[in-house]
Amino acid sequence: MNGIYIHVPFCLSKCGYCDFYSITRTIDKRRYIESIVKEIVLRSDYLIDNKIDTIYFGGGTPSLLKADQLKTILDALKEYFLVEPEHEITLEANPDDLSPPILESFRALGINRISIGIQSFDDGHLQLMNRRHNATQAVNTVLQAHQAGFERISIDLIYGIPGMSSESWNSNLLQAVSLPIGHISSYHLSIEPGTPFDQYRKRGRIKEVTENESVDQYYSLIKHLAEHGFEMYEISNFARRGEYSKHNLKYWQGGQYLGLGPSAHSYNGKQRHWNPRSLFRYYEMIEQNKQPEGEEIDLLTARNELVMTRLRTTWGLKQEEMVELFGMEEWNRLLAAAEPFMRSGDLQLIENNQLIFNKTGWFRSDGILTRIFRF
Ligand code: SF4
Repeated sequence: MNGIYIHVPFCLSKCGYCDFYSITRTIDKRRYIESIVKEIVLRSDYLIDNKIDTIYFGGGTPSLLKADQLKTILDALKEYFLVEPEHEITLEANPDDLSPPILESFRALGINRISIGIQSFDDGHLQLMNRRHNATQAVNTVLQAHQAGFERISIDLIYGIPGMSSESWNSNLLQAVSLPIGHISSYHLSIEPGTPFDQYRKRGRIKEVTENESVDQYYSLIKHLAEHGFEMYEISNFARRGEYSKHNLKYWQGGQYLGLGPSAHSYNGKQRHWNPRSLFRYYEMIEQNKQPEGEEIDLLTARNELVMTRLRTTWGLKQEEMVELFGMEEWNRLLAAAEPFMRSGDLQLIENNQLIFNKTGWFRSDGILTRIFRF
């Protein structure tokens, strides 16, 4: 089944660590909504078939759109795509944009999953990261979302924040698991070039946590969440009661998706496309009825992507799938490359010939993947 991603490139201010594409200028959103609707029409035959079961509003800050603007997009999607009865519609939201009436208006549109950008329950860390909410607002927003009828609530949490101690991270985790949520996405803070944090580091205003602190915080994350019923199903994603992100699973399990809006990426099983990372270049593309830039995926890239995406999940890579797509020889070649990491215990071949990462391998997974890729 296929999914649709809509990138909403607006933020009220820029967070210190963020390198997602978004603009902070206040602009009239009508042109954006019209462009998205036009893109839906222009690209409605992009996917191999037009049945979809996930819609994901990501950003930027989708919660800056009003309910009627979201409705215009959803109505257009329903006109041009067949939305399966068992569908998931996710909206990413920031706590400072939400209130009970706004949450109810989103829920009334059929949005059935909300992903709240909490990032931390520590006011000092929130200020350092230039987030607009405080810890009390974060907790209240989750409770309000629950009261508004959201049965599927996810939150984002960041660890490895400069100056973050183990105690502080553990108390973040304890706060998180006490809330009525079924999903947590948790990422290590990374300092990307060109972000305010990059400047702070250059000027010595912040200092990255040490590798040992990073490893400790990652292991605490896995341990605490497991103790509170959260299953780790992807390197940074945890679900209680089986509340996996159906949309994000498409990225890791080879599903097709159409990405709408500036900087959105699309994949139709054979090709990848990417929209311009600029709102105004995106408007131009749509006004000129142009398709985004793209590329065919060659065999070697497809092989590496299969290895990378499947190993990111705890279900790992099955021999059966790799052999079906690339042949037995390619599977054997992969096992030979993976052999040193199986010996060190980072990777493991389990029943049904599934290759998976072990606990020690998760933290080193980026480095290990590059060693088992083919170039
Ligand atoms: S982290 Fe989210 S809210 Fe903050 S600047 Fe980036 S996209 Fe905007």
